[in-house]
Amino acid sequence: MRVAGSAMIRMHMSAKPAHATHHHHTHNAKGFVREVATACTQRGLRLTEIRLQVLELIAASDKPVKAYDLLDRLKDARSNAAPPTVYRALDFLIDNGFIHKLQSINAYVSCHHPSVVHQVPFLICDVCESATEICDERVSGMLADQARTLGFRARAQTLEVHGVCRHCSTH
Ligand SMILES: [Zn+2]
Ligand SMILES: [Zn+2]
Repeated sequence: MRVAGSAMIRMHMSAKPAHATHHHHTHNAKGFVREVATACTQRGLRLTEIRLQVLELIAASDKPVKAYDLLDRLKDARSNAAPPTVYRALDFLIDNGFIHKLQSINAYVSCHHPSVVHQVPFLICDVCESATEICDERVSGMLADQARTLGFRARAQTLEVHGVCRHCSTH
């Protein structure tokens, strides 16, 4: 896992990006939801109906989902969930590492490794709005160390790189 992550970060940092990013969560949305359900059982967390609905909507999307889209889609699904309920469900999913919030575009994306809580950088394409999770915690770890050294109690990190993805720059 670490080795793959390192290779990946080098790839994206180089001037000419090579191949192989994985934007597509959709092909395995069901598997992802099952993985989260299992993690909830193991950790004694309750995956309530609204939490599950929100998770399924995010899992089914191949792009980060904006909060207002989420509210719209829930309305379509005839869920009568009020916005505060939806935001609480999102907080639950974020706090437990099942999804990530992309602060710079105010959108949510499912996590590639929902069974482990982690903070990792994202590459966000300004053209197609895809978000690629970089499975490498080195940058995050470095920031956490620096913060600790300065006596700063870090609560959250936002590591988001904007640009144009390989697909959009070649099409
Ligand atoms: Zn993740
Ligand atoms: Zn793109």
